[in-house]
Amino acid sequence: MRHGHWIGGKPEEPANQAYLPTLDPTTRLPGDEVAAGSAPDVDRAVAAAVAAQPAWARRSAADRSEVLHGIADAMEAGADELIERERACTGKVPGQLRTEVEMSTAYFRYYAGILRAHQGRTIDQGAHSHTYTRLEPYGVVAVITPWNLPLNQACRALAPALAVGNAVVAKPSEFTSASTLHLARLATEAGLPDGLLNVVTGTGRDVGTPLALHPAVGRIAFTGSVATGRHLATVAADRIVPLTLELGGKSPLLVFADADLDRAVAAAVTAIGFNAGQVCSATTRLLVEASVHDEVVARVAEAVELLEPGVDFGPMITEAQYEKVLAHFETARAQGAVPVTGGSAYDHGLYIRPTVYADVDPALRIAREEVFGPVLVTMPFADEAEALTLANDTEYGLVAAVWSGDVARGLRLAERIDAGQVAINGGPLTIETPFGGYKRSGYGREKGIDALHEYARTKTVSLSIAQF
Ligand code: ADP
Repeated sequence: MRHGHWIGGKPEEPANQAYLPTLDPTTRLPGDEVAAGSAPDVDRAVAAAVAAQPAWARRSAADRSEVLHGIADAMEAGADELIERERACTGKVPGQLRTEVEMSTAYFRYYAGILRAHQGRTIDQGAHSHTYTRLEPYGVVAVITPWNLPLNQACRALAPALAVGNAVVAKPSEFTSASTLHLARLATEAGLPDGLLNVVTGTGRDVGTPLALHPAVGRIAFTGSVATGRHLATVAADRIVPLTLELGGKSPLLVFADADLDRAVAAAVTAIGFNAGQVCSATTRLLVEASVHDEVVARVAEAVELLEPGVDFGPMITEAQYEKVLAHFETARAQGAVPVTGGSAYDHGLYIRPTVYADVDPALRIAREEVFGPVLVTMPFADEAEALTLANDTEYGLVAAVWSGDVARGLRLAERIDAGQVAINGGPLTIETPFGGYKRSGYGREKGIDALHEYARTKTVSLSIAQF
């Protein structure tokens, strides 16, 4: 099947009539083709967005909220199709797919809800003035997303951006565009006016860069690699438009001897298994108090060996990522690291064995770089001070997890760890909780009420009223 772009509420052929192949990573067989977009396609999509946006922004918050609920209803009704589109090009396992589509839908419900209660504020400057703030949209927002959680990453940005009155041009990863395209169709059928959600597919160079450079794009939301984030930050700096950068991570999971070890081990296994570790917030550095380090490592290794490819976890989603993980194994081997389990690929599809490197030297590449695969490194620590030093010994700062029976210690560490989110003893991190990086993990916040403010500008209106 061939997928065109989605522009102005309907499918559109690419200007150059070219298409890109996709791949089923469970089999490595070719899948659907997606339009290979280029600058003229971006121009058409942005023009549709510019035309549609002012009327959308003028509608009441209650009205926009109804439309967002309609999109969520359509996603619920169309969940099976969304799941199939996502599965075909990612090979994710059924439970994972269902969770992701439910989360994606929930973004629309959440922002539809808070939209009706969250507005600007009045500022009391005395009886002689009336001063208030308004949340105003940027106009057209570019949403550039990666291949690891395609629909989820798109909806995380689309829902708040649309909620506050923007129009969107989305540029999904060329490897995983089908679910975002289908979402746009569902949204249109559900009553989202034409032109408010456009999807232009293609490569970063041919679509992403022209989109970021387009003079009518007022804001950029990017999720992906540090290298691309840096490039887009320079484009945005030059144009003086704001952007959100949600980049990588090498997040720590700290386990103290007094923790509930059953739950802590389960959390470490999830870090490997969930989306086969292809999650920027995966807690892939397991730091364990020395007295229980070997026990925890043995339990984690035993548990991950029970995980079955294609049942409990999916493949690497792209060939390039598969090669990258294998190259990490090679480098680790050359640097003298031997995994306690895993360290190789399966002989089918793009599946990689869940892998644990125990007691690694923190200087090794496998301990420092984001692998983005089912790979954990572990390091022992002697005390709280060393745990903190190791936790912060990274260029990244997306999330952290602390497991300890001493809650005060958990909170102490949470205050000192350089990361945008810290979960203590499995505390929930959800759509309601602001998400985003410290350090090289990026800036700007997704999720929560904070994200609404990312996609809106605050305007102050101040009126001097009659003197008496
Ligand atoms: P990953 O390694 O996770 O694929 P990328 O940063 O390469 O991360 O890709 C994330 C998104 O950014 C994708 O949609 C990709 O097409 C897009 N992208 C890649 N390079 C550029 C670029 N030079 N300009 C704009 N977008 C880009």
